[in-house]
Amino acid sequence: MNNEQKNDKDWKESLKKRMNIEPGIHTGDKGPQKKYTFSFWYFFIILMAFLAINSFMVSRQPNIVQIDYNQFKQLVENRTIKRVNIETERYVGYSFSLGQIATDGIIPEGGAQAFATYKVEDPSFVPLLDEMNVEYFATPPPKPSIFSSILSYLLPFVFIVILWRIIFSRMGGGGQGVLSFTQNKAKIVAEGDTGIRFADVAGVDESKYELEEVVDFLKNPDKYTEIGGKIPKGVLLVGPPGTGKTLLAKAVAGEAQVPFFRMSGADFVEMFVGVGAARVRDLFRQARENSPCIIFIDEIDAIGRARVGAGIGGNDEREQTLNQLLVEMDGFDSRTGVIILAATNRPEILDQALLRPGRFDRQVLVDKPDLKGRYEILKIHTRKITLGDDVDLNKIAQASAGLAGADLANIANEAALMAVRGGRKAVSQADFEEAIEKSVAGLERKSRILNPKERERVAYHETGHALTAYLTEGAEPVSKISIIPRGFGALGYTLQYPTEDRFLLSESELIINIDTLLGGRAAEEVVFGDISTGAGNDISRASDLVRRMITEFGMSDRFRNITLPTTQSGIAGVGGSRDYSEKTQEYIDNETARIVNERYEIVKANLEKNKEALLTITSELLEDEVLSGDRFEELAKSKVIG
Ligand code: ADP
Ligand code: MG
Ligand code: ZN
Repeated sequence: MNNEQKNDKDWKESLKKRMNIEPGIHTGDKGPQKKYTFSFWYFFIILMAFLAINSFMVSRQPNIVQIDYNQFKQLVENRTIKRVNIETERYVGYSFSLGQIATDGIIPEGGAQAFATYKVEDPSFVPLLDEMNVEYFATPPPKPSIFSSILSYLLPFVFIVILWRIIFSRMGGGGQGVLSFTQNKAKIVAEGDTGIRFADVAGVDESKYELEEVVDFLKNPDKYTEIGGKIPKGVLLVGPPGTGKTLLAKAVAGEAQVPFFRMSGADFVEMFVGVGAARVRDLFRQARENSPCIIFIDEIDAIGRARVGAGIGGNDEREQTLNQLLVEMDGFDSRTGVIILAATNRPEILDQALLRPGRFDRQVLVDKPDLKGRYEILKIHTRKITLGDDVDLNKIAQASAGLAGADLANIANEAALMAVRGGRKAVSQADFEEAIEKSVAGLERKSRILNPKERERVAYHETGHALTAYLTEGAEPVSKISIIPRGFGALGYTLQYPTEDRFLLSESELIINIDTLLGGRAAEEVVFGDISTGAGNDISRASDLVRRMITEFGMSDRFRNITLPTTQSGIAGVGGSRDYSEKTQEYIDNETARIVNERYEIVKANLEKNKEALLTITSELLEDEVLSGDRFEELAKSKVIG
């Protein structure tokens, strides 16, 4: 056992002691409205006791033998029955007379008997009783006992109350606690060691650096409290999906070796009003008991969305939860040793109240990795994979520009699977390339069959993109053309790998991109004389780019270096409001159309000139389905006129 492991074990022991539970074991909450709930149950129990006593007393009556009417009459005739009680629905005959006192349960010596029979409309019955000298009397219908009358009033009332509370709590009026309907059922789990360290996260060095302070504080809270330094209460991790926000939060807990309370924003959003708020209370209570520790609220946007007035229904629960979160955050001091981490990929929709000082006042950007970062992430995720000699992680990193850490982890995994499927012992570079394509263009779907005419059109279209890129000086080199349909909607594709990461594009580079986008449709027109819907996406991207050049980037002739803002970013005019005149809108529309058409004609003329190259390359593409970048270049070089 080396030292590190021992420390690890020591820490786990102390953690157990501190938490009084096994790490990872659930601890529950009794619910917030304990008292209210109890008083209701007392009431219920008393009610049940009344019922029981009542039915017990009713059962304390003498044994009455049920007999037929003619038997009853006979018993009167042979003087067995000496006294008859005429009730509403039956006669009850007793074998003793009034002198012997026939009251409840007092049975005279010699054994008394009682008989009952259902009434029969018999006019001779009373004369018979007179004749035989039988005592007879009548009793009115039995009055319900006081208990059962109370009950008959109360029961419906109780039901109505229960029903009303259920409905009320669903509609969101704060009727919590009754019958524990809204009790907090979800257990909050304190994770022990997350097993993640900073070394498992790459490509986000700046974010790591900022979080190191948090780790240091959690490790030595005393150091900070003695000096009285200000420690952040809440840290918000902001960044696109899959960049490692959740991973970083786990790494902070792992590095600091403190309990980690993790909940997703969606966990707080429940059907019953009050549950989310109760969970927040519970979470913070547990965290305080286990400090120093970390609370991590993943995807906080689920509850932290900006509040919008008092809407009709729907959002009450979320708002209550959010308010509770704000209250809890304000209510404690970071010196207690609890740090709240939260993650979101949509910081813009968060309620501003969350970002105020004393709450999530520190934001850490977790961005997509750059070339070096991607290389580091690939290294982490290929640690346990046997790599072939030809594998060049740097090349893979180059080819995966724009992908996030999660995508890269996926690619490494996918490449390994590919090797296993191919029965190979090590993962090759080709496996990685295939995995990247899968991740970039969606899953390969060979099963999707195009008819020969469609296939031909797709092939010309893709060659059109590739050839336009080849013919345009400054365009990214083509690395692959394929007409194997992938994912949803993409019938074919042309990949151009950028040689470096791009953070900005010059005006001429934008024009090159537009040309390449238009190349597909232009090729269709050159070959078939008409165009198809297959280019819809290219066309909208090209016109969108042109429009943005005019409105956003200030690249038009008339509004050079001036932005024309629209509230709906990107596409001006469509539904969004704008801050410029109708005339300007007209100019934008006309200018967009003019530039797109101008570029289209240029691209078309170039392809027309190189129709032979277009035909040759396409026929090989139709044959092989896929052309590598090198093969394409070879063909283009020999056929292109200039
Ligand atoms: P997010 O929470 O930002 O959406 P995650 O942290 O859930 O992303 O990332 C998902 C997975 O992707 C991680 O478990 C990890 O395997 C991988 N991953 C993401 N970013 C990184 C990174 N920067 N370094 C290493 N692995 C990463
Ligand atoms: Mg996440
Ligand atoms: Zn296209």
